Amino acid sequence: MENKITGHTRLVALFATPIRHSVSPMIHNTAFQALGIDAVYLAFEVGTAGLEQAIDSIKNLDMMGANLSMPNKILAVEYMDELSEAARLIGAVNTITNDQGKLTGHNTDGTGFMRSLKDIEVDIIGKKMTIIGAGGAATAIIVQAALDGVKEITVYNRKDDFYDKIKEKLAYISENTNCTITLNDLSDETSLAKDVAESALLLNATGVGMKPLQEQTPIQDFSIIRPDLAVCDVIYTPRETEFLKQARLRGAKTNNGLGMLLYQGAAAFEKWTGQEMPIEIVKPIIE
Ligand code: NAD
Repeated sequence: MENKITGHTRLVALFATPIRHSVSPMIHNTAFQALGIDAVYLAFEVGTAGLEQAIDSIKNLDMMGANLSMPNKILAVEYMDELSEAARLIGAVNTITNDQGKLTGHNTDGTGFMRSLKDIEVDIIGKKMTIIGAGGAATAIIVQAALDGVKEITVYNRKDDFYDKIKEKLAYISENTNCTITLNDLSDETSLAKDVAESALLLNATGVGMKPLQEQTPIQDFSIIRPDLAVCDVIYTPRETEFLKQARLRGAKTNNGLGMLLYQGAAAFEKWTGQEMPIEIVKPIIE
């Protein structure tokens, strides 16, 4: 490949740990090259101890912006000059823009998920959805769905630390949007069946279905799946979890987490560059 790095080349950084497995550098560098944008995207092994200094360097080195992943998304909120509405409601930042030294924290995970629904021609605006999980991925999706106009969200989680921690937050999100949000115990299969019957979408936002839980499914009774229900998973390794497979066998439209991954990157790219990511060029490298 021709080396086009010059004295003008701008940097976008990813701060996370562990980080070497990330596909984000491939996604963004492919897009920069395809559009002739004079920028590079590099991954830096940064944890919470080094985060403040790393974020300072966005200003000091006049970087174009940054991405954050685990374990930095929540702590980064403290270091932002401004927050987008989604980042404020979620309480976590995955994308930073740098406007002449003013750092704004955004969260594009939820917009990534919402855009991925278009790929399977599913529209949940004004409707009800049921989501299993109440961690970071779930919270980002809940907030964006609520901001986008989903009418009601029923959240199911097992009774662990996440259950207790998310209760107040869901109430806060509900108060600040036009969305009714309720939290339920995942072991209550009767309520789950009733809520799924009223929902247009059922989503797994837990790690159940990927290593080391790849044999497991977040629900046990698949008779609640019907052909006009959309069923999604945030997991993309494997491409089809047992949960998605069982849903597909019952005729549901299904989608894995690859779209969410791709479109959260596309939304960040558009914030940094003001240009649309060339999805048709980038998508094949992660499939
Ligand atoms: P997290 O640790 O913040 O939350 C984990 C959630 O899973 C909690 O709700 C927890 O209660 C639940 N959970 C864990 N073990 C469980 C079990 N055995 N049974 C039932 N529930 C269980 O994690 P996260 O960051 O929200 O990530 C969750 C999943 O989302 C991971 O698989 C991650 O890879 C995936 N993810 C995908 C994308 C994407 O772009 N597609 C983005 C972020 C995260």
